[in-house]
Amino acid sequence: MIVTASVDKIYANNCHALKKVTTTVKRGEVVVIIGPSGSGKSTFLRTLNQLETITDGDIIIDGINMYDSRTDINALRENIGMVFQSFNLFPHLSVKENVMLAPLKVSKRDKQKVQTEAELLLKRVGLADKMDVYPSQLSGGQQQRVAIARALAMKPDMMLFDEPTSALDPEMVGEVLDVMKSLAAEGMTMIVVTHEMGFANEVADRVLFMEDGKLLVDDIPDNIFKTPSNPRLQKFLGSIL
Ligand code: ADP
Repeated sequence: MIVTASVDKIYANNCHALKKVTTTVKRGEVVVIIGPSGSGKSTFLRTLNQLETITDGDIIIDGINMYDSRTDINALRENIGMVFQSFNLFPHLSVKENVMLAPLKVSKRDKQKVQTEAELLLKRVGLADKMDVYPSQLSGGQQQRVAIARALAMKPDMMLFDEPTSALDPEMVGEVLDVMKSLAAEGMTMIVVTHEMGFANEVADRVLFMEDGKLLVDDIPDNIFKTPSNPRLQKFLGSIL
């Protein structure tokens, strides 16, 4: 579903954030990206929906080259849901209106259908009783679950998560991870940047370890957490576990 080939990213300040990152993600796979701060995890994730452009290499999504001038990047993007560390909900819209906004404005779909789907999505993330309140009346964990429902409202083929639990109080991390686990169980293709090693171990099909812009290890969780052979990965795990 996603192929990245020798992807390089050099920011305007000459920071070489990605160095020849090559990997593939199959449909239905859950791939977790780990690594020290500043290793390029977020940059890599953001190149997958062109929130960041790349300096060199290729990104092919569902057979379509992102950097082909004929590619309709907006159509491609609508197929990729993204959830950030900060929830970025619209404060002046109710929870349900937040979830309905993109399908109504971007996809110009029928309001009644969009509303029914929004209600179903909010039930699915455990917020049936919060549909009509405003984001400021919710906890961080609840707001992040709204953000996930909002991304799902566009019916994406894949979801990107950039440290979705890093801004949450510890007691709220579990409820967000549970929603992500159920999405994974339903077969959603997911790429997740996270420091939650338990989630990576339990849910990931593959774990990518990045350091200094390079993809150093791309392997199944057991080979990452039980028998890591790469010394840099060993050092990283030793520092956080
Ligand atoms: P991670 O997600 O692993 O913490 P990032 O992808 O955020 O890493 O950052 C990788 C490198 O790119 C870091 O050195 C960071 O300082 C740099 N970087 C990130 N965003 C920008 C930007 N917008 N402009 C310049 N440098 C950036």
